[in-house]
Amino acid sequence: MCRVRVYQYRREVIMSNNFIELTMEEWEATYKPIYNHIDTNASFQDESGNGIMFETYGDEVAFVKEQDPNNIWMYGSGDDGGTYIWSGWGFVNRLGYFITEVPFPDNTIIQVQVAEPDLTCDDCNETIDEDEEHQCEEN
Ligand SMILES: [Zn+2]
Repeated sequence: MCRVRVYQYRREVIMSNNFIELTMEEWEATYKPIYNHIDTNASFQDESGNGIMFETYGDEVAFVKEQDPNNIWMYGSGDDGGTYIWSGWGFVNRLGYFITEVPFPDNTIIQVQVAEPDLTCDDCNETIDEDEEHQCEEN
């Protein structure tokens, strides 16, 4: 049921926009997220301890809002149980924001998978726990 909502979202954006999926490495190399200078302990830290995520409240979100819209990215949870970075400002299921040096192109939705989606059973559609044997009720 949840999976369908993700596809609906994707179908809408694909109809009106280019839809591009990038890996985290590709995204960082291409768009160059800036460090969060407000919180010295921000999430998504590199080896030197500098974080790139901005929180959804207070000074940090205020700073995000000052940026050019094409340099703002939302970090959020997908309906499939994974987490993603999407180009552009958004509210739904938001966990944080990023700001990049390089703007994303107009009419383009870019999706970067951060955490893997939940595993679901093809037969009964239930979420499967990797550590447990799945007792499928469909069979
Ligand atoms: Zn099953």
